[in-house]
Amino acid sequence: MAKLPKKCSFCGRPESQIGFLIMGINSSHICDECAIQAAEIVKETQTKGPVPDLDKSTTPKPKEIKSFLDQYVIGQEEAKKFLSVAVYNHYKRLMQEKQEDDVEIEKSNIIMVGYTGTGKTLLAKTIAKKLEVPFTIVDATVLTEAGYVGEDIESIITRLLQVADYNVKAAERGIVFIDEIDKIARKSDNPSITRDVSGEGVQQGLLKLLEGSVINVPPQGGRKHPDQKFIEVNTQNILFICGGAFDGIEKKIAQRLNTRVVGYGAAVETENIDRKNMLQYIAPQDLKSFGLIPEIIGRLPILTYLEPLDRNALRNILTEPKNSIIKQYVKLFEMDNIELRFNPDVLEYIVDKAIEFKLGARGLRSITETIMMDAMYELPSKKTKQYTVTLDYAHKKIGRMSAHRLKTA
Ligand code: ADP
Repeated sequence: MAKLPKKCSFCGRPESQIGFLIMGINSSHICDECAIQAAEIVKETQTKGPVPDLDKSTTPKPKEIKSFLDQYVIGQEEAKKFLSVAVYNHYKRLMQEKQEDDVEIEKSNIIMVGYTGTGKTLLAKTIAKKLEVPFTIVDATVLTEAGYVGEDIESIITRLLQVADYNVKAAERGIVFIDEIDKIARKSDNPSITRDVSGEGVQQGLLKLLEGSVINVPPQGGRKHPDQKFIEVNTQNILFICGGAFDGIEKKIAQRLNTRVVGYGAAVETENIDRKNMLQYIAPQDLKSFGLIPEIIGRLPILTYLEPLDRNALRNILTEPKNSIIKQYVKLFEMDNIELRFNPDVLEYIVDKAIEFKLGARGLRSITETIMMDAMYELPSKKTKQYTVTLDYAHKKIGRMSAHRLKTA
């Protein structure tokens, strides 16, 4: 009797149409594609897996979290302190769930306001290293109202679920950093203006997440199987940290401070206002004037700011953080057994250029990279054991380079 051609017992396709078959008992087979799909389904059904309990004795205290941040982020004392306390309180809130008294610790979502390149994302990424809960960073600029081109609000939770390896319980106590929250501000402070797709509608959607609600998230990899259910994720215990540059908000702050001075006599003395750092006076009503809806502001009760980076801070950023730019180059050369040194005036020069070209902290890397490019190209093929970058050399490499070419993405 002729042997029947082998086929997948799941999708029915013959061997010729698939990658390969895995054999089971009684001449049953499963093809590679069905095996992958089956594994996905199994993973999804395991979404109610156990979540390790947080242990009070091991969760880091605010001061510990802050000193961890200090190793990577220069300055930004207030933002670091606020973040550390918020994360610590988040833990406490998660641990108190089991207790049965009437005092319920409410969630304290955070909003950080600071010029671009002052360390908002860096703070978020750094704190993530220290966290014992799932953490994800999402960009608010890609969010649009459901039905429009772009990502739905739900995608934020999908991302968190992915980092939690589809463990719903774990995701439900995670932390989400929403970057560029200012980009979903209403274009005008006038609520009667026609709705804008990327503005108020998105804020309303976001509000749902911040308030705490059950969100239906499509299963991993979309819905391949019609009978697969959406995954329900409750956002009640998810901590949201928002960040934004809020370009131009200084004017709103200044306006408010001035009106206060006029209205209430000496409530704020105008002479004492530090005009170089207006963000330090930020108040919730400034966010409203900028175009965030009051309900969102109400759900972000902790408002903090980042300092603009001065010359000193930029200089420190070059060398002080645990993985500072200069330390990274030294390491790169070390791997070729070359001891790399920078003359101190080179470091000053890099900072000068970053300031001159208005590139801020982001420019430090691109400037250093430009200076080092030829050395990185040449030296590994030479027998050099020690190399010192001099001011003269740096001048030659940067010399007539325009700010345009140094701009980072
Ligand atoms: P933001 O999110 O505020 O726009 P980032 O956190 O992305 O800015 O900062 C851009 C880069 O600049 C970081 O990757 C880091 O190298 C550097 N940087 C910015 N601020 C600081 C800081 N306070 N301390 C150390 N490095 C910083």
